[in-house]
Amino acid sequence: MAKSTLESLNPSLKITAFQANIKEFGIPFFKDFDVVFSALDNQEARTYLNSMCVALNKPLLEAGTTGYIGQAMLLKRGISRCYDCEPKVQNKTYPVCTIRTLPEKPLHCVIWAKYLFGVLFGPMDEGNLLEDLREKFDNSKENVAEGVFDELFQNQIQKQIDSDPKKFEKLKLLVLKETLTKSVGNEDIIEENAETKQKIYTVGEYAHLFIWSFRKLLEMKKNLGFMSFEKDDDLCIKFVTAASNLRSFVFSIELLNEFQTKEIAGNIIPAICSTNAIVAAIEVSEALKYLRFLAKETEKSNSKECYVQNDVEKKINVINPLKPNPKVKQSLIIDY
Ligand SMILES: [Zn+2]
Repeated sequence: MAKSTLESLNPSLKITAFQANIKEFGIPFFKDFDVVFSALDNQEARTYLNSMCVALNKPLLEAGTTGYIGQAMLLKRGISRCYDCEPKVQNKTYPVCTIRTLPEKPLHCVIWAKYLFGVLFGPMDEGNLLEDLREKFDNSKENVAEGVFDELFQNQIQKQIDSDPKKFEKLKLLVLKETLTKSVGNEDIIEENAETKQKIYTVGEYAHLFIWSFRKLLEMKKNLGFMSFEKDDDLCIKFVTAASNLRSFVFSIELLNEFQTKEIAGNIIPAICSTNAIVAAIEVSEALKYLRFLAKETEKSNSKECYVQNDVEKKINVINPLKPNPKVKQSLIIDY
């Protein structure tokens, strides 16, 4: 795709495209490059590419965007730090008690539903969030979906209320049989189309969706115990949408449609093409500066780390390249 688009823009380009995991390419592949431009989407791949470039002393144009913010810089021994000289920010974690006993936001229920998916259909090592549920869950039994529904949204909630009636007085119980009668016949909820993904249904419909998706997942017998949450699997998203909305209902939290649930569950930040274009342009301009420096047109490299920002006056913040961190030993990966 990218190749044909670029070639139509500039027919004099010579492009060789490879489609594979970057880790399949080792030192022999990278040693022939003069400059490496990165447009990767995860830290693991960046760390790998960085190690290749450090080992071979190649200039790496590292860049990334997250919505409206982004960064681009040249990383090269003798000029700057490498990608792994700076500690990386870890993903945000949430206190287990909020998720387990007192969710306040839709996000908390989505996280809970993802855990639930892992506990029910995955390898049972997703932490102890729903430990008590495992004993009740026996997929050899009939009506297991119904049993789990009542356990989650009735029995466990009742137990919680009994433990502190004042604190939990506002919690609502969901009994499957009753809840299903609250369905208003919008059975299109199980369908796969843009309209159903954008719609918020009633609690009755979500109960119906819970049972339907649960049974579908149980039918995938050979995968049971090996499944993990997959944001691009529609059935998985449907299950998580149903479970998190049922829990939101119990705790009087606003419901989310399938699309919103997927966004939160998959930690998806929309790609903004203008940010991507700005960051790509900075990569090119930093590369040109480096080439000028190599050609001895300038004495200093003039390389900068550039940060694209939003909601501030200065949209692109430019700083001098950071120095290598002597505490970090770059392990060299050599696999000729
Ligand atoms: Zn380093």
